[in-house]
Amino acid sequence: MSLPIDLSVPAPQPELGIDIDTVKGFLAPDEGARLHQLAGLAAQLGPVLEIGSYCGKSTVYLGRAVQEHRGTLYALDHHRGSEEHQVGEGYHDPDLFDVARNRFDSFPAFRDTIERAALDDTVIALVAPSSTVARDWQSQLAMVFIDGGHSMAAAQADFDGWASKVMPGGILAIHDVFPNPADGGRPPFEIYQQALASNRFVDFGLTRSLAVLQRRG
Ligand code: MG
Repeated sequence: MSLPIDLSVPAPQPELGIDIDTVKGFLAPDEGARLHQLAGLAAQLGPVLEIGSYCGKSTVYLGRAVQEHRGTLYALDHHRGSEEHQVGEGYHDPDLFDVARNRFDSFPAFRDTIERAALDDTVIALVAPSSTVARDWQSQLAMVFIDGGHSMAAAQADFDGWASKVMPGGILAIHDVFPNPADGGRPPFEIYQQALASNRFVDFGLTRSLAVLQRRG
């Protein structure tokens, strides 16, 4: 079965059951709507996995669609923050710093989001590095959304660990893909190019910075 992907028009804004503006994160509404639309298709085939949950914004968009199909969304994040989230870096948020343990921790905020969105029956948190979870992972996935660290090492590990686990006909989505280097960092764009070069995926282009590909059948 091949999913009927049509990205020629913007996806409608979904009913999320939570004020999404109260969830911290870096995802535009049209990108979120697109993720919701794609997850609704993918959930008919099998489980969905996202890498880089942070405070759960994309998890809500994906999870709401997956829940409607009584499916499963794996939400993978070590919750220690990417390079840019650490103290002194450009995207550090003091609200997400665990003072008692002297380290960044987005997991409490993530859990709060999932509870507020009533997605506990759908979302399974995987709190570990991406490559650690990928190591023994056997299940094929109907959709993988890569939105993890933006260093080349992190993006490469996410791609190497997970792109091959997308089932034939399934979806690979990558966030923060900027064809113009002036708009943002290169690693997500680089792994998008690798996916295209592999010839294992069909390109559906970009919704803002969200690249969408479909694994060939
Ligand atoms: Mg992102």
